[in-house]
Amino acid sequence: MSDYRLGIDIGGTKIEIVALDTEGQVVLRHRVGNPGTYKGLLSDVKKLVDDAHARTNPYATVGVGIPGAVDAHTRLVKNANATWLNGQPFADDLQDVLGFPVRVENDANCFALSEATDGAAAGCHVVFGVILGSGMGGGIIVEGKPLKGLHDIAGEWGHTPLPWVREEEFPMPKCFCGNSGCLERFLCGPALAESWKGPGNRSVQGIEDAAASGDAAAQRALDLYVDRLGRACALIVNILDPDAIVLGGGVSNLNCLYERVPDVMKRYVITPECNTKLLKNKHGDSSGVRGAAWLWG
Ligand SMILES: [Zn+2]
Repeated sequence: MSDYRLGIDIGGTKIEIVALDTEGQVVLRHRVGNPGTYKGLLSDVKKLVDDAHARTNPYATVGVGIPGAVDAHTRLVKNANATWLNGQPFADDLQDVLGFPVRVENDANCFALSEATDGAAAGCHVVFGVILGSGMGGGIIVEGKPLKGLHDIAGEWGHTPLPWVREEEFPMPKCFCGNSGCLERFLCGPALAESWKGPGNRSVQGIEDAAASGDAAAQRALDLYVDRLGRACALIVNILDPDAIVLGGGVSNLNCLYERVPDVMKRYVITPECNTKLLKNKHGDSSGVRGAAWLWG
């Protein structure tokens, strides 16, 4: 058995690899650009793994996080925003290329696993991990393991509807998935940027400072965001009742979320008290790749 775990995070523009030792210390980290083609991806991942094996241990395990899911029945990737990955038997092909077993998991599940293993929610039994970035993802960890579900979509709350909708929130915005009113249309980073500075804006950098210095539009956008995220989290508590909800992605850097969202959650959950912790991630951008490494226990 190896003392090292390799984790690989496949993002839209980059591929990152880390090697963790048994204590979770990063002993190796390397990033390359994502080649943007399927064949190129397989060969680049093999190069990264070969190099990491040479520098750590040739038996180091390999876990991979992808921006999609591997369907347990068809073995094909689905729901990937890197659309050229969809329909490919990525886990099987990668195992063929490498010559040994690999574990492949959705990147939001990897994020949640990282934070549940040795991150902000370490020691919690049930953890809901959320990525609030350019899109929106979620993953559920139960007793240290990702809950995959029948269709490998457990935790995909980005495409569930905004709950407890107010009259003035209609009409609901259309989502790329074909439905209307999906949470992602309200809670991803670009949605918040748009509600602050108008259509076409994608960055939320500086929104808290702007609100603090009297920018009424920034304050309005934050108030609405806090209220909607609180409702969305209350829905998760009613269904899953996790010990902790951990936020990741660019929007998770807003401090006001941790101060204000729990009060909103309390108003909506179907229990007199709400003790669910709302936590900022500990490992930041590294959580996805760390969680991929932790796929091997
Ligand atoms: Zn949708």
